[in-house]
Amino acid sequence: MSSEFRNTVRANLAKPEVRANFYRAMDGLMTRRLDQFPDKAELERLRTQSMAIRANALSKLPELLETLEANLTRNGIQVHWAETPEQGNQIVQAILERHNAKSIIKGKSMVSEEMGMNHFLEALGIECLESDLGEFIIQLDGETPSHIIMPAIHKNRVQIAKLFHEKFPDIPYTEDVDELTQMARRILRDKFYATTVGLSGVNFMVAETGTLCLVENEGNGRMSTTAPSVHIAVTGIEKVVESLSDVPPLLSILTRSATGQPITTYFNMISGPRKPGEKDGPEEVHLVLLDNGRSNIYSDPELLATLRCIRCGACINHCPVYVRIGGHSYGTVYPGPIGSILEPQKAGLDVHGELAQASTLCGACSEVCPVRIPIPSILNRLRYDGVRRDTANTNTVGSGKRRTLSEAATWKTWAWAATHPAIYHAGSTLATRFKGMLPTNLGAWTTVRSAPKLAESTLHQQVKNLGVDHE
Ligand code: SF4
Repeated sequence: MSSEFRNTVRANLAKPEVRANFYRAMDGLMTRRLDQFPDKAELERLRTQSMAIRANALSKLPELLETLEANLTRNGIQVHWAETPEQGNQIVQAILERHNAKSIIKGKSMVSEEMGMNHFLEALGIECLESDLGEFIIQLDGETPSHIIMPAIHKNRVQIAKLFHEKFPDIPYTEDVDELTQMARRILRDKFYATTVGLSGVNFMVAETGTLCLVENEGNGRMSTTAPSVHIAVTGIEKVVESLSDVPPLLSILTRSATGQPITTYFNMISGPRKPGEKDGPEEVHLVLLDNGRSNIYSDPELLATLRCIRCGACINHCPVYVRIGGHSYGTVYPGPIGSILEPQKAGLDVHGELAQASTLCGACSEVCPVRIPIPSILNRLRYDGVRRDTANTNTVGSGKRRTLSEAATWKTWAWAATHPAIYHAGSTLATRFKGMLPTNLGAWTTVRSAPKLAESTLHQQVKNLGVDHE
C-alpha cells in the first residue's frame, strides 16, 4: 500500500467520533435490510432475477443504448455522449452557456461527483448548489461524500447542528433533526424557483420506452427535475435496462438493500420535456451518458460483472474494512467494496490498484449484493492483474504496474521451494529447530497481532510420529 493511503487510513482510524458514527449508522442499515427480507427464499429468488435482468442488459448493451437514444430522442430528450469526465463537463457547460445560467441546482448524482462537476463549474464562476440534504451538508463543510447513498453518514447530529450554526449564524442553534431539515428545506426552496437549470442522476434508463427513472426520498430530485426550465440528467452508460417490466424487481431490491425501505418516498419516471398545454415540467431535458472507462470494463468477460451494480451501497454497509476506516480513507468517489473494484478499473491499477488490497476477502459484500457481483473474485483478479507479467493478455488499465522485483523474487523462491520436497523439508526442519531465533517483530503485521509461532515439529514429523503411512 502507498504511504499516502496508509497515512489517510491511520488518520481516520484515530478519529473515534467518526468511527462511532459509522458503526452506529451501518448497524442500523444492516438491521433494517435484514428486516426487509424475512423470507430468505424470496430474497434469493429476487437476487437471481435482478442479476439476470442486469446481465441481460449488459449482454445487449450496444443495441440497448441505440434503442434508448432513439426512444429518448423521439420523446424530446436530447442525448449527449461523453467518453471522459472532461467531455461530460464541457457538454454541461455548453448547455448552461446557451441558457446564460450562472447557477445550477443539483439532485444527488454520483456520476457528477465522478466528473468533478462542482469544481469544474465553480472554476467558471457557476454556482453549484447541492439539494440532497446529505450532499448539502458536506458541501457546506467542503467535503466529499463518504458513502454513495448517504454522503454525510460520517457526521452526527451535533456536528451537523454546529456546522449549520457556523454557516447560518442568523438562524438559532438547534440539534433537533426536524428543525435542521426544515432549515435546509427553507434555504433550498427558493433556489429551486430562482435557478434555470436543474441536474440529477439516473437510477435506471428504460430502452424500450425512453424513460429515465430516479429513486429518491427527499423530493429534491423531483424539484431539481421539474422546477427549473432545463433539466440535465447525467449517468453512466451501464444504467440501461431493456424494458419497463425490468424496473419493479430492481426497484424493490434496490430500496430494501440500500436503506431497508420497502420503497422510497419518491420514484420519478421522466419521459420528456413539458408538452404543449402542460402546466409544469422543464422545457428542455438533456441526458449526458458518461463512459469513463466503462467500455473497457465491458470488454472483459470477467470484469464485466462490475457493471451490473445498481449502487445500493449494501456491500459498503456490510464491509468490515469500510466501517472501520470510513469512506474518505479510500480517496475515491466510490468507497467500500464497489469502489475497490470499480475505481482501479476506471483509473488504472497504477493509480488505485492498492484498493484491491484493502480487503479481507471475507465475502460479506457478495453475500448481500442484490445483483450477485462476485466482488472477492474480482478483487483477486485485480490483484493478479496488478502484478502479472503477461500484461498483453488483459485490458485492465495499469496491468503489471504493481509488480515489484522483491515481491516477485520472494514468491518465485517460495514456489521453487514448495515444488522441491527435499528443499522444503530441510527448510521447515531448520525453521522449527531454530524457531527461537525467528523475529517476533514483523513490521505492521505485528503492531496489532502476535507473530505466528512455529510448531514444535514439522507436519511431516507429527504425521510420522502418529504412525500414519504418508501414502
Ligand atoms: S456492488 Fe452490489 S451491493 Fe455493492 S453497491 Fe453495487 S449492487 Fe449494491
